[in-house]
Amino acid sequence: MNAASQHQPEESFVCLGNQEDEPPSRIGTFFSPQATVTDFPSLGASQPAEPARHRVMRMNPKSRAFRKVFFSEATDADWADWQWQLRNRIRTLEQLRRMLALSPEEEKALEQHGELLPASVTPHYMGLVSPHDPEQPIRRTVIPTVYEMVKSAGEAEDPLAEETQSPVPGLIHRYPDRVLLLATDFCSTYCRYCTRSRIVGQGGFGPSRERLEAAFDYIRRSPQVRDVLVSGGDPLTLSDEKLEWLLSNLRAIPHVEIIRMGTKVPAVLPQRITPQLARMLRKYHPVWMSLHFTHPDECCYETERACGLLADAGIPLGSQTVLLKGVNDSLPVMKSLVHGLMKMRVRPYYLYQCDPIVGSAHFRTPVSKGVEIIRGLRGHTTGYAVPTYVIDAPGGGGKIPIMPDFVAGRDGDNILLSNYEGKAFQYPDCTAE
Ligand code: SF4
Repeated sequence: MNAASQHQPEESFVCLGNQEDEPPSRIGTFFSPQATVTDFPSLGASQPAEPARHRVMRMNPKSRAFRKVFFSEATDADWADWQWQLRNRIRTLEQLRRMLALSPEEEKALEQHGELLPASVTPHYMGLVSPHDPEQPIRRTVIPTVYEMVKSAGEAEDPLAEETQSPVPGLIHRYPDRVLLLATDFCSTYCRYCTRSRIVGQGGFGPSRERLEAAFDYIRRSPQVRDVLVSGGDPLTLSDEKLEWLLSNLRAIPHVEIIRMGTKVPAVLPQRITPQLARMLRKYHPVWMSLHFTHPDECCYETERACGLLADAGIPLGSQTVLLKGVNDSLPVMKSLVHGLMKMRVRPYYLYQCDPIVGSAHFRTPVSKGVEIIRGLRGHTTGYAVPTYVIDAPGGGGKIPIMPDFVAGRDGDNILLSNYEGKAFQYPDCTAE
């Protein structure tokens, strides 16, 4: 990818038309989508329409081929409209049967959908999903399987004990100087390994004024809180209007120094990142963002454009990635992901060991795998590209960094070190006072 060539100025999105076209993929038969799904929750006082200008966004070839087959009636402007993407999320077994050759493990899980974490995928993201390969990494992260229904030892609904650290509904106060505010429990696309699977999509933490005002009150009464992380669910699924109301309330609290936002929108719904949104966000600086990325296949044109708009708005971007078995648990895949992120001006921030939520055993790797990946990155690529590998301690202990050990021991005053190539070095240490 070339940032310069792909980051189009917003008001003049260029339709590349058939330049990007691929032959229609062999995704089953050529169905048109049935009735679109319109029952996403009310996300604010209103959902103001984006101005009807010539918003035609460059599309990655996979999504373009997918759209031709399954959303052939959608215009370029429809596809580039984030609210169209939300209204047309893929949510039913019938839709998935048309779009994917479902494996028995997927089919069985979807038939019992009521007992599982909600399932929903935006058309954009479904365009990246392999129609034939149930083991494709992206597909594994969003299509349920029966393995989610298996509870293994050590798993819990709320492994991080967030409920015990929640002084008001939807606000978690674990570390002294910062809080986590759940802006909404809604996501455009639900990840099968979500730490908050007990909450997301359940409707218990909608963006109601009453609940959020109780959270603002708590923060106002807590002068030690200098940092508020707005997460969810996904806060960028809120309307600009609702989000601005939330941010302006936080910014009005004198001791809140920084606002951070956690979102997967640039990967699953990049159309949501509009110039209007970026302009609004920059009014509330310092605003930081943690973007959730999983696999290098997510780093497509649309996502690069979204990250570019956010970075141009002066928002420092970091990525959070969950280490997932069969998805990104190999050095080449992780290296490709961190390099893709760096090109999009996103600094790899955290690599998380997968939290032991119920039904996550099929996603969890040994901790040694994460250490091996970090060892394979450190020194072998740009330092900025090496995330901090952490375990979020079960029971609410917070993030604990896990590092490969580059200190081999001590010889008198010298520390014995091993470099990234395994070569031995000594450093003359100072005597401790
Ligand atoms: S986007 Fe985040 S909150 Fe939403 S399902 Fe995925 S991991 Fe959970």
